[in-house]
Amino acid sequence: MERARVVAGLMAEACHELHNAWAPACRLRTRVGSGRATWHRYDPRRDDHCITIGTLMVADKAQPALCGGWLSTREIQGRGYFGGAVSELNLLAHGCCHEFAHLLQTRSGGRRYGQVHNAAFYQWLDQLHSAGAAHALRGRLAEEAQTRGVVLATDIVSTAGETALRDFSPGDRVRFGPGLQGRIRRVNRRTCTVDGTGPCRGRRYRVPPQMMTVTG
Ligand SMILES: [Zn+2]
Repeated sequence: MERARVVAGLMAEACHELHNAWAPACRLRTRVGSGRATWHRYDPRRDDHCITIGTLMVADKAQPALCGGWLSTREIQGRGYFGGAVSELNLLAHGCCHEFAHLLQTRSGGRRYGQVHNAAFYQWLDQLHSAGAAHALRGRLAEEAQTRGVVLATDIVSTAGETALRDFSPGDRVRFGPGLQGRIRRVNRRTCTVDGTGPCRGRRYRVPPQMMTVTG
């Protein structure tokens, strides 16, 4: 658990680096929790943001092959972050970006009760990745860990979701996400490209298999 605690501390530092670069005007505190819970909280009275990194969450991510159902995995695969590659290092770096995107979302007024992972949130998360901040953070996290004698694995793992891609073929009608539907256009390495149908017509999605069910 000592390894996980060290890494969680480095992730908290990485959040501060994002903070300095992206939102220096607001107040951020970070803490390392002993459990699994990893989250961002905003206290409007004190006007401060707090990000908690859970030590057990970090320990879990040392076994990325078991993490097929996790939100971080679905985001990396579904949105093509880090080329869609799931590894311990990518999961941890992405975890920092995920929590920090909640800070940016909150600050820009994009967080509403009951709508935590909404379009505003993903716009910020996409931006952290497309601007290169996620990539740079991943590099620094790996280096800092190494100076403390911890090697964060970069081996790309197949998660349970990947094998499930065999269950899908182009032309299948599918449902996914909250009320979304479409028809599979292409089966990719880790996701399916889906053309929206019905209320989703005109939109195109990349959906990881574990989020989809075939409807006909
Ligand atoms: Zn979240």
